[in-house]
Amino acid sequence: MAPPIKPQRPPHSEKNPFRGDIREFRSALTDWFLENGRDLPWRTFPPRDPYSVLVSEIMLQQTQVATVIDYYERWMERFPDIQALAAAPENDVLHAWQGLGYYSRARNLHAAAKLIARDYGGAFPQKAERILALPGVGPYTAAAVATFAFDMPTPPVDANILRVAARLLDYRKPTDSAAGLSHIRDIAQQWQPSAEEGGAGIFNEALMELGALVCTPRTPLCSACPVRIFCRAQEPETLPIKRPRPRKVELEEHCGWIVRDGQVLLEQQTGKRWRGLWRLPLLTEPHSGIPLAALTYPFTHHRVSLSVFPGTTPLFLTENQRWFPFPELEAVPMTAPHRRALRKLLLDKS
Ligand code: SF4
Repeated sequence: MAPPIKPQRPPHSEKNPFRGDIREFRSALTDWFLENGRDLPWRTFPPRDPYSVLVSEIMLQQTQVATVIDYYERWMERFPDIQALAAAPENDVLHAWQGLGYYSRARNLHAAAKLIARDYGGAFPQKAERILALPGVGPYTAAAVATFAFDMPTPPVDANILRVAARLLDYRKPTDSAAGLSHIRDIAQQWQPSAEEGGAGIFNEALMELGALVCTPRTPLCSACPVRIFCRAQEPETLPIKRPRPRKVELEEHCGWIVRDGQVLLEQQTGKRWRGLWRLPLLTEPHSGIPLAALTYPFTHHRVSLSVFPGTTPLFLTENQRWFPFPELEAVPMTAPHRRALRKLLLDKS
């Protein structure tokens, strides 16, 4: 619980051109959040469970809230705590993650749970440097766990906080440069309540929620904004400023549809990308003609065109290839694009 708000002269300097009294700002924003914040399954007050914060934050990287809700609830039913996740086989973990993409996140989450179970007896570490040392936990996620679960004044500067801060300050330099991001991070740090004041976790969550619900990317709802008197933005929809984006690189991926006696041939990926997941076997030679299935999917700064052609049964299987009976396919951990292609092929076949 935050202590009573005391009046304070507004901080104003070149480094922190905040408009108004930062304590009044925090108070207005937090009050609004407590009234209007979404009821999300990982938001439990107070305190939040660090494991659930970690799971939700890792799922929310690259994935929308609406999509994450179902995955999060199923995940927490299947792996309700660190010990349950640490004890699970990797195949179960990947299967539970299936559809969320970027599977290294699931592997890292699994490795983090094992490390916490082994080194800390299952108790989540509370020191910032120990949280940061967990597999797959970068500065943003460590800051999120520290502030949401342990109320530390560590602002997790995501796209929402960055946008809100850039607009409040009318910051008109690129925020996707190292200098711009570092400037916004410094500012967000200066806005934090001290450890004695408390309430950093709720304040940071409120900043994010403002960005998600009110200070939205295209059409910010300034007339309904609880902190508009603190805002300097003249043309908020033009902020934050970003550098021009490089064009997406087009990639072709040709795979084979090889079936035999009610079974389909799949291969397990061994490279860094999607390691451990199964896919339709990659054709060694590019194929021409009309594919049995075709779709496109984004991958980092690539746009991949996946085409599946009829393949011939190989004489010998490689180490990472296996036949799977049709009824077992839904339980096999696969990449989302290959799952979509496989479902289409099975549908066309029936
Ligand atoms: S007044 Fe508008 S631009 Fe400023 S913080 Fe509120 S919603 Fe964002």
